[in-house]
Amino acid sequence: MSAVPLRNNKAVAAASRSVTVLGATGSIGDSTMDLLRASRDRYRVEALTANSNVQALASLAKEFGARFAAIADPARLGELKDALSGTRVECGAGESAVIEAAARPADWVMAAVSGAAGLKPALAAVDRGATVALANKECLVCAGDFFMQRAARAGACILPADSEHNALFQALGSGNREELVRVIITASGGPFRTWAARDIERATLAQALKHPNWSMGQKITIDSASMMNKGLEVIEASYLFTLTPDEIDVLVHPQSIIHGMVEFSDRSVVAQLGTPDMRTPIAHCLGWPDRITGPATKLDLAKIGQLTFESPDFERFPGLRLAYDALRAGGGATTVFNAANEVAVAAFIAGQIRFGAIARLVEATLQDWTRSGNLSPLSSADDAITVDQVARNRAATLLPQIASKAS
Ligand code: NAD
Ligand code: MG
Repeated sequence: MSAVPLRNNKAVAAASRSVTVLGATGSIGDSTMDLLRASRDRYRVEALTANSNVQALASLAKEFGARFAAIADPARLGELKDALSGTRVECGAGESAVIEAAARPADWVMAAVSGAAGLKPALAAVDRGATVALANKECLVCAGDFFMQRAARAGACILPADSEHNALFQALGSGNREELVRVIITASGGPFRTWAARDIERATLAQALKHPNWSMGQKITIDSASMMNKGLEVIEASYLFTLTPDEIDVLVHPQSIIHGMVEFSDRSVVAQLGTPDMRTPIAHCLGWPDRITGPATKLDLAKIGQLTFESPDFERFPGLRLAYDALRAGGGATTVFNAANEVAVAAFIAGQIRFGAIARLVEATLQDWTRSGNLSPLSSADDAITVDQVARNRAATLLPQIASKAS
């Protein structure tokens, strides 16, 4: 049985829910807290977590009367205790505290930590059979098939919160697996959609951070500019919905109004549309299996006038090609793809490599991995974490030679 419920079951609708938000101080966290703020009577906050921003975490924990607040940076426990003194909010620090937050008994968990660091907390929620709204695509790409298998075994319900996957989730209910021909995930094309390859190569951090449609965290915004984000999303779609690479197409759609489409055997194509606002897919996950009122601007297609589409350019955006390669290679290659990309993005932010070198570092790390012949399937979370660590070390070793080589 799939952990993603592909047909609505209205019978399981909960009257009120306890919720936990992992990564509460980030962009997705912020949108989630915004929705919770608008329906205070329907939701009770069990736990909130953040990486290092103690003040923002403490202020949310106090505002929502959270039972537990966890800060990932172990050095900040004292600061968090001070910020929460005089309240009834319990707190903890370090990775184990973030995992504890996920393991506490909330009905619904938003997994919105950035990067593979979110894997262990997400698994803690999955293992107790929670309903998990999954925004953190890197954790799924890092863990591979294994994450969804573990979710199905534990009886956890995975609700895709990434906008494209949420769109597919909504459209997939129009037919069954045998009737499905392919899914199409759309991509805005990012800030460099129309740029020449030589300009993309030298793009600055400020240019990469100027996304045309979405306001998001730093890592995903850079991934959107390189289209690595779309690559991660192709892999994410494959694991979430058990699709082969050939069943997943990417379509560049600069207006970001259609988020995803599903084609069925009768050639019907079912799409989900909406203004580009993450509060819509998050609201869908929060209300599921019912629908709640969303705060996004009403879609006005007459005002928008035109929706346009282009094929993705695998030459100028090699990250997308590499994602398909990793998915086809199997056996931990997607873990390597994600780990190398995280190292490359951090190096780009630190000014160590050019923008164009992000994909070169991912390619070199992937080649190194496939050459080693180690392509056996991952069988545990520890396996995934080991491969992730090996790939990070390898990418760090390859970094100086990639940095010194101009394209
Ligand atoms: P962000 O950087 O704005 O926020 C990340 C959150 O995770 C913060 O609360 C931060 O404190 C926490 N965090 C970071 N590193 C951590 C660590 N090592 N341990 C514990 N907590 C840590 O990121 P975001 O844009 O909100 O994205 C979060 C996730 O959602 C990412 O996986 C991203 O790909 C995915 N996503 C984001 C969007 C979006 O619109 N922002 C859309 C789709 C999917
Ligand atoms: Mg997305």
